[in-house]
Amino acid sequence: MTEGVWEAPGRVNLIGEHTDYNDGLVMPFALSRTVVATAARRDDGILRLHSADAPGGPVELRIDALAPGRGPRGWTDYPAGVLWALREAGHRVGGADLHYESTLPAGAGLSSSAALEVVTALAVTELYGVGLGRQEMALICRRAENAYAGAPTGIMDQTASACCAEGHALYLDTRDLSRRQIPFDPAAHGLVLLLIDTGVTHAHSAGAYGERRAGCESAAAALGLGSLREIPPEELPGALARLTDPVQRALTRHVVTENGRVERVRAALEAGRARAIGPLLTEGHASLRDDFAVSCPELDLAVRAALAAGALGARMTGGGFGGSAIALVEASARERVAGSVERAFAEASFRRPEIFAAAPAAGARRLS
Ligand code: ADP
Ligand code: MG
Repeated sequence: MTEGVWEAPGRVNLIGEHTDYNDGLVMPFALSRTVVATAARRDDGILRLHSADAPGGPVELRIDALAPGRGPRGWTDYPAGVLWALREAGHRVGGADLHYESTLPAGAGLSSSAALEVVTALAVTELYGVGLGRQEMALICRRAENAYAGAPTGIMDQTASACCAEGHALYLDTRDLSRRQIPFDPAAHGLVLLLIDTGVTHAHSAGAYGERRAGCESAAAALGLGSLREIPPEELPGALARLTDPVQRALTRHVVTENGRVERVRAALEAGRARAIGPLLTEGHASLRDDFAVSCPELDLAVRAALAAGALGARMTGGGFGGSAIALVEASARERVAGSVERAFAEASFRRPEIFAAAPAAGARRLS
């Protein structure tokens, strides 16, 4: 039996990378690719999970026996973690049947994990009549991902999936969770934002994420700060002068300049100057590649080839070490840029990338 259908989107981060665990600024937008959940309540306290896109049949879990910290058990950690986190927070949700179908590639840096969490939270809270604000929902989902699935990620992905609006990027200050919808409609400006999925995931990505995060925390501690967000761009030279460790200096430089780029992208978009964000995207890539050291040959090549073919700007998006890059291009140059990137990948004997146009889409919602 079905009581309703919900969907939650993946996201692309336009700018603001590796800032969300530094109390910093991010600006993601939602994709039209989503995880769809068909759901119904159950009265026997069982959570029955099935995904058309995961191996194996349905998994049945007793909701009163859900507990984190026993090591990863696979994809069901994400939705089970949401039920656990909701109940931990005192929300009265019970058993459910949840069937998922997805148009969002998993592990491509487009945040399928957050989409899976948010669609679960939205479906279950609506089924059980629990009134939960979107930001609160995102926090529950992050708790599921951090504490239950064991992935130490920031708040951007879940907030993007829960809170984005069509035709807009979401400016989010992760320090106080204030947010603002920023008009971003490439097509209205005669532009296309290409998403270039390299199809690669490098093995060290999980460990490197934790290392970068710990490196940022130790840099903040060395400066006597709670987080690197406390350094405004104009105080960067002074902060760098007080750091002796070259890795801490490079991490700090990325985070502080990246927060500055988010503000500049926001200002340009609010002024209706969409083309002006191109160089800021490219600058962000160089910072991630050289200072934060989270790029990889495939991402660097995607950016280089896109720029050489006339893209206005390009950068890796997401955590790095694979996943996707974005390129802002004139609509008339779309085929040329995409073709150049494909040829460059073929010449380098890299996997053929998947390239599509990404238009800012709606956040999580009920479909029926
Ligand atoms: P990303 O969020 O960038 O896609 P993650 O590694 O954070 O990458 O999350 C991917 C994981 O999320 C998958 O390995 C799988 O466990 C889970 N997942 C995502 N989408 C689905 C889906 N449609 N069905 C089942 N599990 C999914
Ligand atoms: Mg994820």
